[in-house]
Amino acid sequence: MASLFRTLAGGVALACAVGLSPSLAQAPGPSPTPKTTAIHAGRLIDGLSARPQSQVTILITDDRITAVEPGFVSPPGAEVIDLSSATVLPGLIDGHTHVTSLRRTGNGIAKSVTYSPLDMALAATVNAEAILRSGVTTVRDLGGNYGTDLALKKAIELGEVAGPRMWVAGEAIGPTGGHTDWSHGYAEDMSRRDWGAGLADGADAVTRLARTQHKLGVNIIKIMPSGGVVSQGDDPKAQLMTEAEIRAAVDTAHAMGMKVAAHGHGKEAIDIAVRLGASSIEHGTYADDESWRLMKTHGTYFVPTLLTTQRLYDLATHAPQTLNPYTVRKVLEMGSSIGKLTRAHKAGVKIAFGSDTGLGENLQEAALMVEAGMTPAEVILAATANAADLIGSNEIGAVQAGRYADIVAVAGDPLTDITELERVQFVMKGGVVYKAGGENLYVQMVNP
Ligand SMILES: [Zn+2]
Repeated sequence: MASLFRTLAGGVALACAVGLSPSLAQAPGPSPTPKTTAIHAGRLIDGLSARPQSQVTILITDDRITAVEPGFVSPPGAEVIDLSSATVLPGLIDGHTHVTSLRRTGNGIAKSVTYSPLDMALAATVNAEAILRSGVTTVRDLGGNYGTDLALKKAIELGEVAGPRMWVAGEAIGPTGGHTDWSHGYAEDMSRRDWGAGLADGADAVTRLARTQHKLGVNIIKIMPSGGVVSQGDDPKAQLMTEAEIRAAVDTAHAMGMKVAAHGHGKEAIDIAVRLGASSIEHGTYADDESWRLMKTHGTYFVPTLLTTQRLYDLATHAPQTLNPYTVRKVLEMGSSIGKLTRAHKAGVKIAFGSDTGLGENLQEAALMVEAGMTPAEVILAATANAADLIGSNEIGAVQAGRYADIVAVAGDPLTDITELERVQFVMKGGVVYKAGGENLYVQMVNP
């Protein structure tokens, strides 16, 4: 790996294998004089086409890609990043994260009443940096509590915290006793002041809450039409939001220019959310052939979230004390749900990458998607072009002139071994290098 990620300027080696020295990692944000960078890519998977290109140069000015040219060129004054023996890809996109997640250690119920919003916010900054350095440069974060996701997004945009670009949902909207009702399963007088911010019963309440979320600055409305797995007392197979409530969420979101992501395990909840215009179905555990047909007809994305299901299954079998007893039962009943992706893929449903995790392990989802029958090229497109399309942005998800310079590289060939994505060696977001030669770089986040 010694020569993989050498950084050159004017032909002079400035740093070697471990990559750029700390002083070379520039702070995010506008620079007084435009900075030009040329990345020499041995192979490029550009996020648009399934076929890789060989030996191209990616030209970058400040935070944007300006051109992709054949061969290795080194314009005068450009800093050259040598990735000539690597495979270069667009920064990857996780379409379903929870960056504000806490580690699943210890007793889950005890933790839910001993952690404060401030604990969560601090943990979130660590998670955000781990996610970015893993190679995920954008996330669609589907449900954060206490406004921590909005605060984190703001801090990342201001250059105060290192993290991925964030599209956030704020509080996921759901019914009393449903997947967002955090006091469910506790004694009646056991609650916390800030629990229940995502609860809405009746169409008017859903409309009001969706409008409130928009006012607070969210980009997406997340709804909980079915029960969930990590929540206590609710049934994942049950449809818990009424048709009127789901319609209110979708119509209100659309009126404000936002899409709706629907958490759906049970078939009835999935089918009705698709029919009413949700842009994506998350999880899809008990979807049947009719559900997949509906999703294909409506152009609804499926976000499989295999990794979190597998993680929960491992915990339910090896460390059940870290989960509440309801969750252990639900997870054991679901078992491995990899087959749902096999069926969705065969049915021709559009698939976007989403791990439902938030601690930096996100890209382990890719190997499970291949196990389910997708090709590595399809998985990469799910985490680039498709996820960008689901988010609704043409500024991310591809190595193409005009887009953000969000670029990653792996040492081997992810088209033959998708687990290369678990060993991303180089990470650039908005033209700033956060990792090179497999080593994290110090990035001074705010200019003094
Ligand atoms: Zn989730």
